[in-house]
Amino acid sequence: MSSNKKSICIIGSGPGGAVIAVLMAELGFSVTLLEKGSEDPEIATEDNYIANCKSKNLELRHAFQIGGTSNLWSGLIAKYRRKDFDEISACKDFFPSMENHYEFALETLGIKNHAAIFKDSIIKSNLIRHSLFGLKKNWRAKDYLHKKIKDRKLENLRIISNASVEKIIHVNGIAKSVVLHNRQESLNADIFILAAGGLGSPMLLLKSGYKNKNIGKNLSTHPKGKIASLKFKNLNGFNFILKNLSFKKRKDYYEKICFSNLDSNCENFHYVSISKKRFDFFKKIIDKSFKFSRDLSNPKLEPYLRMLNKFGIRLMFFAKSLDSIFSLFSKNYDVNLYMAQKHLSSNRIFFDKSFNLPRIDYKICKEDIDSAISLFDKVNSYFLQESVELTLKEDWIENLVLIHSHFLSTCRIGMHEKDGVVDSNLKLFESKNVFILDSSVFPCSGYQNPVLTIIALAKRLSEFLHQEFNAKS
Ligand SMILES: Cc1cc2nc3c(=O)[nH]c(=O)nc-3n(C[C@H](O)[C@H](O)[C@H](O)COP(=O)(O)OP(=O)(O)OC[C@H]3O[C@@H](n4cnc5c(N)ncnc54)[C@H](O)[C@@H]3O)c2cc1C
Repeated sequence: MSSNKKSICIIGSGPGGAVIAVLMAELGFSVTLLEKGSEDPEIATEDNYIANCKSKNLELRHAFQIGGTSNLWSGLIAKYRRKDFDEISACKDFFPSMENHYEFALETLGIKNHAAIFKDSIIKSNLIRHSLFGLKKNWRAKDYLHKKIKDRKLENLRIISNASVEKIIHVNGIAKSVVLHNRQESLNADIFILAAGGLGSPMLLLKSGYKNKNIGKNLSTHPKGKIASLKFKNLNGFNFILKNLSFKKRKDYYEKICFSNLDSNCENFHYVSISKKRFDFFKKIIDKSFKFSRDLSNPKLEPYLRMLNKFGIRLMFFAKSLDSIFSLFSKNYDVNLYMAQKHLSSNRIFFDKSFNLPRIDYKICKEDIDSAISLFDKVNSYFLQESVELTLKEDWIENLVLIHSHFLSTCRIGMHEKDGVVDSNLKLFESKNVFILDSSVFPCSGYQNPVLTIIALAKRLSEFLHQEFNAKS
């Protein structure tokens, strides 16, 4: 495909960078995709950062390679909700214009029957594992890139690996070029898109001398941990967990079950995983449908469903290796909590000059802890007490894994420079031609996994750039 349009330099080849690179090349722009990793996996660990966290459980997982962290991901996808974005006034109009692009994002991930999925009010509001819907293995940005380049003959898309961008050179609000680490070369372009991830993008802005005080702040993730142990007291308890569940087949080692009749406004997501060989056995139990007295549609439960919903907290029940019906009652099962987080500007990534390294300051605030405990209490007393015993683990807070693989909100969308880093077109306030496309722009952490939204954002940004720069070229 020939190109007579503007040149675009994209930094980072994860889901964000890969998808926008293909979209812009398909529109005829001349695209260069710079990736600091190679084609081979190389997983960076916390050695690259100084971490100032209360918990020792700092888990940083991202992959520096073509395809970015999508080479490690598990394939759980979910839509964000309008109210997640409404938290910031700049996002009120933003969300509807992004939401339309979820369909594109599902198609990109190879999910074919998405219309049916989205019609299902439960799945619409909950996480789905896309491999449930016919994909043999997870989508990888790396494969996507190579396949698209080959199929669409995208000669105007150039990928350069082992090209770590050191900084962006900019004059009077216009970015001119990028300087590559350990290379005596720089690369000029008309438009720059940072897709270096929730930690990489703010670091690059800071190293490049951008001054906005919000850069790197509000870092949030989805902390996770075993919060409680669960024991079934009787078959009603087991049935409580399994009643109203819908089975979705997955081809590999376990079957996944999700609640199917929760109020569609209730976004908490529960699942039980059961080893495959026991699947038929448990299905029979469910088919016989033991009677369970409580009805989740009971209006009295409404406030508590809302309570669960409010903080975007999910409980996940894992019942592993269920060898016999007896072990069902003798075992304690882990109850895992995945948390959404309140934003704290003191949670941040910045460059620590004394160590010459990026540094992460991070803690879980009291409101988050309180909300998790009150959630636990409500679940315990209103849903579970008769048939299921739930015991809070005393050390759950210390054992939360504070930072997982989701790095969010470090370059948030804002109305003005004082409350964000990019505007609602994902353009850096401080620049006329630098854009950000990764989960760093998310206005809140929500509880949802980010890839689907990153891809939807790629489509939205490509349309904006096409309109804006094509017209001017
Ligand atoms: C084990 C695991 C499981 C996960 N499971 C899920 C899941 O089920 N669902 C979900 O939605 N998400 C999941 N995620 C998270 C998901 O993979 C990430 O949110 C997503 O990949 C982020 O995409 P991105 O394009 O913003 O950044 P990344 O994928 O992190 O890509 C950024 C790229 O930029 C490159 N880069 C960084 N700095 C520079 C620089 N200075 N110069 C050049 N290149 C640079 C990096 O090398 C990297 O390749 C999971 C992650 C992990 C680790």
